[in-house]
Amino acid sequence: MFRSVLAIIMTVFIVSALSSAQAQEPILRLYTLDCGKIKVLDANIMDDTDSYTGSLNLVASCYIIQHGNEYMLWDAGFNPEAIKGVKDTDMFQPKIEKTIVESIAEIGLQVSDINKIGISHNHFDHIGQANVFKDAELLIGATDFDALFAGEVAEGLHPAFIDEWADGENVTKLNDDHDVFGDGSVTILSMPGHTQGHMALQVNLKKTGPVILSGDLYHFKDNYEQGRMPDFNWNREETLASFERMKSLLQSQKVRFVIQHDPDHLAFMPKFPAYLD
Ligand SMILES: [Zn+2]
Repeated sequence: MFRSVLAIIMTVFIVSALSSAQAQEPILRLYTLDCGKIKVLDANIMDDTDSYTGSLNLVASCYIIQHGNEYMLWDAGFNPEAIKGVKDTDMFQPKIEKTIVESIAEIGLQVSDINKIGISHNHFDHIGQANVFKDAELLIGATDFDALFAGEVAEGLHPAFIDEWADGENVTKLNDDHDVFGDGSVTILSMPGHTQGHMALQVNLKKTGPVILSGDLYHFKDNYEQGRMPDFNWNREETLASFERMKSLLQSQKVRFVIQHDPDHLAFMPKFPAYLD
């Protein structure tokens, strides 16, 4: 009798301990936003060994990661004003249907709810709407930040899209991997090569498992499958080293890998406002 009462007490204790542990774990969700489309006039600029012909139709994607009652934006798409003058003869021809602010309103979020903004790298198609979220903490590769705001700015960069952080305040400059929320659930991964401070993002979801967002380590499936990279990458050897690191991460875990500009990869993501969790 005593032993069975003890067993019941122990069971109740274990069950309540488990459920309180579950209650303490924050909600973790990954929302995929449609951040537009981009036609690349000459596909061959996406391969420094010149194997592509014709043009290329890519997408742009941004992401909201909900962690408890915090919200992080990953990449900030095109600048709506800057793309108004795009011509048929331009190498990059972006289009957007909705701004990030318009999209997040559909899940009841406003600008002030976004308290972190992570940027894979400093190119125009990843920082275009950043300034809108000026009160958020900016997480960005240190060298990508410095390329925008320390010294002479290289042609093709657009510091004006992200200059709310130009003074370095509320910026976390990254030189390595970074555990965003301190619990291992969301990690920015250092993947230099496309730019010097280029980053990818891993989100360890409870039901889905780990998801890795590529940044622009690869632009579309063929880049990934054939190990090809654009003409305009910062450094070929560093890119190849990041390819190796990414491959070993993908092989060592059962990862859902998302190439952020690949239309087929994005077609398999839940259509916003649906999400992965
Ligand atoms: Zn890009």
